[in-house]
Amino acid sequence: MNRQRRHFLKTGAHVALGAASVSIPAQTGAQISAEAVGEHQGVRSYRRLGRTDLNISDISFGASRLRSDDAHLVHHALDRGINYFDSAESYTRGQSETVLGQALKGRRQSIYLVSKTGINANTRAPAMMRNLEASLGRLQTDYVDVYMNHAVNSIDAVASPEWQSFIDRAKTQGKVRFSGLSGHAGRLIECIDYALDEDLIDVMLVGYNFGQDPAFYEGLTRAFDRIATLPDLPRVIAKAKKRDVGVIAMKTLMGARLNDMRPYEKAGAGTFSQAAFSWVLANPDVDALIISMTSTDKINEYLGASGQPFVSHAARNLLNRYAKLNGANYCRHACNLCSGACPADVPIADVLRTRMYATDYGDTQFARNEYALLANNASACLSCSGEPCQNACPNGIQINQLCRPTHQMLQQQPGEVLT
Ligand code: SF4
Ligand code: SF4
Repeated sequence: MNRQRRHFLKTGAHVALGAASVSIPAQTGAQISAEAVGEHQGVRSYRRLGRTDLNISDISFGASRLRSDDAHLVHHALDRGINYFDSAESYTRGQSETVLGQALKGRRQSIYLVSKTGINANTRAPAMMRNLEASLGRLQTDYVDVYMNHAVNSIDAVASPEWQSFIDRAKTQGKVRFSGLSGHAGRLIECIDYALDEDLIDVMLVGYNFGQDPAFYEGLTRAFDRIATLPDLPRVIAKAKKRDVGVIAMKTLMGARLNDMRPYEKAGAGTFSQAAFSWVLANPDVDALIISMTSTDKINEYLGASGQPFVSHAARNLLNRYAKLNGANYCRHACNLCSGACPADVPIADVLRTRMYATDYGDTQFARNEYALLANNASACLSCSGEPCQNACPNGIQINQLCRPTHQMLQQQPGEVLT
């Protein structure tokens, strides 16, 4: 019996649920009844998050798109047994934390809260503490379970002595229980290696999907494909596991073009998202995943993959189909091989990431918000021939045909207030 399974048996109170057995974690058992977990779509597995010993829902709540009228989504997730809620100060301009704070009132002791702050080499510890305290205020709590160094992409940010002194102080003051980092950009691997080697983190949140494991993806498509960006990602995930650092996956849907897949999903055989989740959860080095939960139907659908850490034949077929449909026009963002191609310093990967939120996720408002947060945008593309970046993407993305319309679609209009 493996360690995870032993822990599952040790800490979980089991509740019969049809043919399935639902494990309610010891910490939350008092609050979540079998009835509340639901008939079919409840969480079916809780997993130990590395050295934190938090026992969290294998499919958990990503709050990056939570807006002011979304409290019902948080309640629905709670009712389905989700106990881990991942937010950040920047998500929906603070609304995400505010909504979580309101919706989770009275439930604080039975759930786990995560927040994050973005820093650079010049950010000082007092500023980090102010950001943390602002998040605690919005979340209506005295502490977060995990606080992360957000979207790291440089060793300077990971190695910052100011961050370490801030985190140590915040832990001593009881405002933060565990520390971590999150990332999905080009220099993520070296950041993770450094953080693990220096024993700086308890948890890491990384972009990880079936397109990012060279061995799996090349086998799937039976062809060499440069989609396997960050080919060392499986290695650092395994390394984290060995060091008992908790691993959470995000961006698990490889672009989330869910509608592309609806025609191929067969009743009873699972959906594309369930297939993609089962692939992530089948990796024993991954503890859990988070996913943006934007409707009750989607929450139900997503949780259909809970507790199923293997990839069925039907799931593999769906992943294969998705790869064929989208592999050639999916910007991998993390590869960032186009970096430096633009003389105007347009952050191409970031611009295309925000475009994805609008065109793939179907969330234009979120895309506009994220676009407005970019330090530099694609306005330069309006008066550019497009020649410098024409052949800059080895994955065949037509950058010059995408960045200009992205700016036109997402730029903030005069007088427009983003929410
Ligand atoms: S445009 Fe191409 S090179 Fe640039 S991040 Fe996307 S996939 Fe990578
Ligand atoms: S179109 Fe021109 S300005 Fe825009 S990203 Fe390409 S090179 Fe840069």
